[in-house]
Amino acid sequence: MQNRHTAKTGNKKMTLDSKYKESYFRKVIDDMDGYTPGEQPQRIGGWVKLNTNENPYPPSPAVAKLLKEVDPASLRLYPDPVCRELCKLVAQLNGLHLDNVIIGNGSDDILTIVMRSFVSEDELVVCPEPSYSLYPVLSQLQGVDCRCIPLNEDFSLPEDFLRHAIGAKLLLIPRPNAPTGTAFTMDKMREICGGFDGMVLIDEAYADFAEESCVDFIHEFPNVIVCRTLSKSYSLAGIRLGYAMGSHHNIAGMMKVKDSYNVNALTQKIALAALEDQAYLRGNITKICETRSRLCSALENLGFKVTPSQANFIFVSPPDGNGEKLYLDLKEKGILVRFFPGPVTGKYIRITIGTDKETDKLLEALK
Ligand SMILES: *Cc1c(COP(=O)(O)O)cnc(C)c1O
Repeated sequence: MQNRHTAKTGNKKMTLDSKYKESYFRKVIDDMDGYTPGEQPQRIGGWVKLNTNENPYPPSPAVAKLLKEVDPASLRLYPDPVCRELCKLVAQLNGLHLDNVIIGNGSDDILTIVMRSFVSEDELVVCPEPSYSLYPVLSQLQGVDCRCIPLNEDFSLPEDFLRHAIGAKLLLIPRPNAPTGTAFTMDKMREICGGFDGMVLIDEAYADFAEESCVDFIHEFPNVIVCRTLSKSYSLAGIRLGYAMGSHHNIAGMMKVKDSYNVNALTQKIALAALEDQAYLRGNITKICETRSRLCSALENLGFKVTPSQANFIFVSPPDGNGEKLYLDLKEKGILVRFFPGPVTGKYIRITIGTDKETDKLLEALK
């Protein structure tokens, strides 16, 4: 007897086309490319890795201490599904109540939860362009359109941004922005949050390196959620921990959408230890901001166009305006930076702020 599958495909050798026709995926999945993460060479040795905005310094020593003391027997049990201790600590650090916080498996998980919570079929997502390239991908997965609204030439928000966003259900907006590193003015952020009809997710992945945060907006605007991550400022990209802050109503709704055990037990413990060590965090941020100023001045002296940054990376354009060539030349010399093809971004490369030694190597290679 023929089974269902051979009945469909017969004995024909499947070509790519016929395989495609036989795909069981939703059409949007077959049609999309998927997100391209920055290169993660599995042999770190030899590379100066300045391409995915990781922190060059180790996490708080409290994390090392904790890892030595973990009892494997504790892993037998499911983790706390709502990360109560972490919610309490995040709330305390931000002057909030624990009902105002939800924890995610990285802030990418938070973004997925937001998308699934607030956007249904036929609704529209908007974001600035350039910004985090995951936003359009998440929209595709949700089966909705993402309208990318071009920023001004200096990467500020256009005067008529709100007009372009009319009718959208969700606005995704990083502050500081990625990959430009610029922070939109607080006045403009207020104007947008107050004037936009749908939800606004302010992605503060880099806010610890910035002068200001929008976290207080969640008291001012019922349509604002702010998310953060431990991946960059806390040197913990490997544990996957992000969180969002918003009104109790918004957080309670998102709680229904998240996977029940979305944050593993080890991550919860490590994140607690790291968040408790605010002094270590501040020391690290100071070091990175100092290296950032030094690198910016040095690159300006080499004739680069340097975008003012409030993040742990800089977006710079070489004198010949050829970002791709510079990216390839640096790779040849063992230095990884990030290149984003495109008419605007193609003139630039994004460089993560590394240690002083890594910065010296970079500057040496550029001379
Ligand atoms: C790095 C980054 C994230 C993702 O952070 P994770 O917590 O590692 O998932 C989210 N948004 C922006 C803008 C980022 O640059």
